[in-house]
Amino acid sequence: MADSHGAHALFLAAHPDDGEILAGGLMASMAAAGRRVVLADATRGEMGTRGTPEIREEEASEAARILGVERINLGLPDGGISSHLDTAVREVVKAIREFRPLMVFTHSGTDHHPDHNGLYTAVRRAFFLANVLKYETGQERFLPSRLFYFFSGRHLLPERIDFIADISPVWDKKVTSIKAHRSQVHGSGFDGPETYLTNDLTWHRLEVRFGYFGSLIDVRYGEPYLSESFLRLDDPSILPGVMRP
Ligand SMILES: [Zn+2]
Repeated sequence: MADSHGAHALFLAAHPDDGEILAGGLMASMAAAGRRVVLADATRGEMGTRGTPEIREEEASEAARILGVERINLGLPDGGISSHLDTAVREVVKAIREFRPLMVFTHSGTDHHPDHNGLYTAVRRAFFLANVLKYETGQERFLPSRLFYFFSGRHLLPERIDFIADISPVWDKKVTSIKAHRSQVHGSGFDGPETYLTNDLTWHRLEVRFGYFGSLIDVRYGEPYLSESFLRLDDPSILPGVMRP
């Protein structure tokens, strides 16, 4: 029953800027269409090279406002998701049961960052356990419809892609939401060690990366996704992506 679904989508990302970088376009697109989207950061990014948890929380709120999504934090230890897997699973189950999303999105299993891999494992388990009656959290059980993954291995190409979302209309929003994390990028008033995000090449790389995925579907910018299950074609008379503009 459609009514039993709360949020349209729940996005789970390990660190406070992962969601924006990897799935900001899809989140902004859904939000722009009036859908309720929740972004759950697993950690506060307290192990990050730059910024403090307090500053990062403020930046995260601003980025969520730009994208048009609700944002929560699961309070898991930065750098320690894999070593606190049971806690991570439990927090994700609680979030799924609270927001009752139609769709769940998280990191793919092929990633260079241990926290991303840890969250991938936790979310896959939680997706199942959220619907298990005797896994008790004091909430009603819930089974979302679909589980999807976004790609974060920046030195890797995805092992496969199931769909690419056209994010051209919301590209500026995505970039602005990333830049809202001022302590992490070249924000004014923040000094600190250089990281991947403070590198001059960052914006060029983002542009090229998402421009490349856009080029594969004949649009300016695209975000690639993987689906845990087959995508049903509800109307076989209209194949996706072949409509005349
Ligand atoms: Zn991350």
